[in-house]
Amino acid sequence: MTNTPTTPGVVPARLDPEILQDNFSDLEPPFDAHEAVVAADRCYFCHDAPCITACPTEIDIPLFIRQIQAGQPEGAARTILNQNILGGMCARVCPTETLCEEACVRELAEGKPVEIGRLQRYATDSLMARGIHPYERVAATGKRVAVVGAGPAGLACAHRLAMHGHDVVLMDARERIGGLNEYGIAAYKTAGDFAQAEVEWLLRIGGIETRTGVRLGRDVSLEDLRADYDAVFLGMGLAGVNALGVEGETREGARDAVDFIAELRQADDLTKLPIGRHVVVIGGGMTAVDAAVQSKLLGAEAVTMVYRRERDRMSASEHELDHAATAGVRIITNAQPVAVHGNGAVREVEFAYTRDGANGLESTGETFRLPADQVFKAIGQTLEGVPEGLTLAHGKIAVTGPGRTGLEGVWAGGDCTAGGEDLTVTAVAQGRDAAEDMHAALSA
Ligand SMILES: Cc1cc2nc3c(=O)[nH]c(=O)nc-3n(C[C@H](O)[C@H](O)[C@H](O)COP(=O)(O)OP(=O)(O)OC[C@H]3O[C@@H](n4cnc5c(N)ncnc54)[C@H](O)[C@@H]3O)c2cc1C
Ligand code: SF4
Repeated sequence: MTNTPTTPGVVPARLDPEILQDNFSDLEPPFDAHEAVVAADRCYFCHDAPCITACPTEIDIPLFIRQIQAGQPEGAARTILNQNILGGMCARVCPTETLCEEACVRELAEGKPVEIGRLQRYATDSLMARGIHPYERVAATGKRVAVVGAGPAGLACAHRLAMHGHDVVLMDARERIGGLNEYGIAAYKTAGDFAQAEVEWLLRIGGIETRTGVRLGRDVSLEDLRADYDAVFLGMGLAGVNALGVEGETREGARDAVDFIAELRQADDLTKLPIGRHVVVIGGGMTAVDAAVQSKLLGAEAVTMVYRRERDRMSASEHELDHAATAGVRIITNAQPVAVHGNGAVREVEFAYTRDGANGLESTGETFRLPADQVFKAIGQTLEGVPEGLTLAHGKIAVTGPGRTGLEGVWAGGDCTAGGEDLTVTAVAQGRDAAEDMHAALSA
């Protein structure tokens, strides 16, 4: 180790390689067979199970838990994957504490839900470890569909279309398939290159041709796609990021949190990834939490997350905020950035305290400064490069029903569409449902 957490500046190798490896290994270790059966035994197998309704992909949770209890983890995996083809990733990344586990009757009764997420992981990992892909394509229909964006929405859509016998061309602007599963999700939630393993497993359905490095709007237009294919699905996510709009935000050392996270996810060797001694993260959502926690895990001495409103307005869940606090991240609320100071590179960030006033958020007039050699901006992402002709709602693509846009033959789903929750599982549900609607239209 060449540096320590207190070495000034933005430097690599603040921690020993073994500590780094440990820090970025599985957040929650997987169940073994015995632990899974014990956890499954806690389920009441409720009739009208509220956990199913709380799951955006409506997995039959009591059924898959009963299958685990009966010693059939692969059957359980099929139950999950029938509804959610990215059930392995969702088992790792879903905020279950605000979805199925929050709704679980044992959570209401005892404050301790059935561990649905970990059971789901046990089932899907068991099946994948045996190299089984339990789906086959039906006879080819001769229809060709373009899927733009290979994140969870595009992948779920492509898989379902391929199952129905359509030929899919899945294109993405990035070099690797997976969207934010590959470039965004915190590294400790998807250890062991799980995102790529899952993509390879999913593509085994056949009938999906992947084209990377292809950007809609640069290399191909929506008009071309509509002319060349029988249908088009747009699952482009949110490629743009919001700026702070304050003086000094382009100083060296200040950058978008999503870019930092993508770099971290693609790093072969974490000991080479530079991190600041004093890191300030601006924002209150999942991206801000992930940037802050991972900065700490890389060895930053002090990491502070600053959010402009009160804690209960943060979009990160209490569970995630607790995780950040446990990792050693300091959280300041009711403060907004005023300026990023420095001499070339960032030295300090100045904030003003805020309060809710008659006309919305207002400054109290009191300011403070935090030392910073690195600043991560995480105040939201935006839709970028929307093709012409699409109707927008709240800055995203407007859809009706299962992803129908206003354009004939064009569907959309995932983060790029209005009304979603910006979660992996919602993107999967929307991609799947759009594929079913496209299939119905293509079969008519
Ligand atoms: C840092 C971070 C952490 C997150 N953590 C979690 C979590 O723990 N749990 C959770 O449930 N959700 C999490 N989310 C949210 C989740 O990742 C997204 O909701 C989900 O990935 C959306 O899927 P998608 O397919 O709509 O879009 P994306 O995953 O963003 O995929 C869109 C794809 O489209 C491609 N693309 C974009 N523009 C074009 C174009 N013009 N031409 C071709 N391709 C294009 C992109 O390269 C990308 O691969 C996180 C998000 C971020 C940013
Ligand atoms: S609500 Fe909880 S106890 Fe009831 S079926 Fe779902 S997981 Fe089992």
